[in-house]
Amino acid sequence: MLEQTGGHTKVNRSSGDARCAEPERLSSLLDAMPIATAIVEIRSDGLFDIAMANTLFRKIDLSRHGNENFAVFTDRIGDFAGSDEMLTQFDWRMGCKIAGRDFIVSLSRLAGEPATMVLVSLLDRTNQLQTEKSLRREMVSDALTGLPNRSGFEEAVDKALSQPEMQEQQFAILLIDLSRFGRVNEAIGPLAGDELLITVARRLQSNLRAGDFLARTGGNEFSIFAKVTSGRLDVHELARRVRACFDNPCRLSELKISIDCAIGCAIQKNGKVDVEDAIRHAQIALKQAKLSDRTEIYEPQVGTVTRDRFSMETQLRDAIERDELSLAFQPLIDLKSGAVAGFEALARWHHADGTIGPADFIPIAEDSGLIVPLGRWAIQTAAQTLADWDARLGQLIPVYVGINVSAIQLARDDVVGIVRNAMTDAGIGGERLMLELTESAIIGDPDRAMAVLADLKTLATRIAMDDFGTGYSNLAYLQRLPIDVLKIDRSFVQAMAEDNDQAAILRTIQGLAESLGMQTTAEGIENKETERALSLLGCTFGQGYYYSEAVDADAAFAYWERSLKR
Ligand code: C2E
Ligand code: MG
Ligand code: MG
Repeated sequence: MLEQTGGHTKVNRSSGDARCAEPERLSSLLDAMPIATAIVEIRSDGLFDIAMANTLFRKIDLSRHGNENFAVFTDRIGDFAGSDEMLTQFDWRMGCKIAGRDFIVSLSRLAGEPATMVLVSLLDRTNQLQTEKSLRREMVSDALTGLPNRSGFEEAVDKALSQPEMQEQQFAILLIDLSRFGRVNEAIGPLAGDELLITVARRLQSNLRAGDFLARTGGNEFSIFAKVTSGRLDVHELARRVRACFDNPCRLSELKISIDCAIGCAIQKNGKVDVEDAIRHAQIALKQAKLSDRTEIYEPQVGTVTRDRFSMETQLRDAIERDELSLAFQPLIDLKSGAVAGFEALARWHHADGTIGPADFIPIAEDSGLIVPLGRWAIQTAAQTLADWDARLGQLIPVYVGINVSAIQLARDDVVGIVRNAMTDAGIGGERLMLELTESAIIGDPDRAMAVLADLKTLATRIAMDDFGTGYSNLAYLQRLPIDVLKIDRSFVQAMAEDNDQAAILRTIQGLAESLGMQTTAEGIENKETERALSLLGCTFGQGYYYSEAVDADAAFAYWERSLKR
């Protein structure tokens, strides 16, 4: 029997004294039920006794879980008995929020029995609810960082905006895209890439104000929801704090990885747009930020810009097929003798709207895979140009040609085969080519890079490490690789021109190169003083506007001819 006295519930179990007809038949029917089921009899005081219960029901200790929820249970049964309903169902939690169990309770009448007799069954759905809950959690969160994912972010924004204090309040959605993450990931491997994402997530999270929140809304994209009180000023301040998270390189075991980001933002007034629109607006701003290299805040008319990058990819594909690319050649000067030692081949795209520089289209080529045909074309064309100059001179022109090879091409293409074919087709020797690679080309898969460089060496080509000092600068690899020339990035050269202290860095790089038996090329020499300083430091070659910009093949040949007379 189950009775409630003075606010306390006592359970006295006895299924024997059923007051229903054919108690044995009912009892065996109840026992055959796959869920906890009992027949209860409502008493005149509104409480009830259990007249009969199956084993599953008896196993549930209804009294153990405290009175509060139990009162709900008894009240519902009392209400049902007093009504003329035949069947009702309700959700009921037995016990506390954490350790309780969840049931669907069904109450029904028994045909041929008095209205005071009620059939109660309890369907335990605790496990089902827990599974649903964890599935939901998985659906709305990012497994790697534990942050909300895109769905989770949209939900959280919706929820934040429905708070009373957010009515009529301005808010911002900030999208943060880790620049070149795809390439960094490719270079350092997916495990380290994951670690990098976790580090970035942690840094961003620790820079948030109370009430703002962060999500990982894409592979290399994070989103922040922030309350805004003073419009664009607030957003720029927030963007400044986000950028500060990227000031210091991330340490991943022995690597130090510098990563940058593009930030696009939409400011909205609550109630004016829905969440999806706000995010879409921020995406438009982000696309523009990737091109402009600064924080962009959504302006309605920006919509057209987004199509540009996609159309640029299509146009670049056509341009490669239609031969609308050319190579320009920038002289490399021997700083000791002043002679022209070689030319670096730099790609140019002659577009209907004007010439587009490689800084704008090489990243698109790399992201889209077009870098492979583009790179092949550059190697072929550079070798052929050298052969043309030979033919014009009637003998071998004593200059080498530097050719840029992207890390992506090195990883995906048969660079050795391409170079060998280009040499054969043009009839030139490998010692007249200098392949320029960046540090990222080596760091991703050092063993593969090492093998490719060794094969290139069998063709007698020389190898330059381009933009040295801006990448990962892993000296351990440098030492083991057959690198002939370190090209010191122009940021160091130009910093030295402005600040003499910077000369110390250049001296160190020069010393390092010498101790490894490498030559150096200083990039970005724009005036006589810089040339003199670098020459004194011992740099081997110089390159920069001081000598010449990159010019077409004919002009480069003429430049070389003129240099003989100087
Ligand atoms: P890079 O290999 O470091 O090439 C040097 C860049 O510095 C060139 O920019 C050149 O025009 C610029 N430069 C040279 N002297 C000066 C100077 O005195 N001052 C300043 N401010 N800049 C100077 P460009 O032609 O825009 O090329 C940019 C980058 O695009 C190149 O950097 C290279 O990484 C890449 N690139 C160019 N052509 C190709 C190509 O055919 N294949 C691949 N994979 N990459 C290429
Ligand atoms: Mg280069
Ligand atoms: Mg360079």
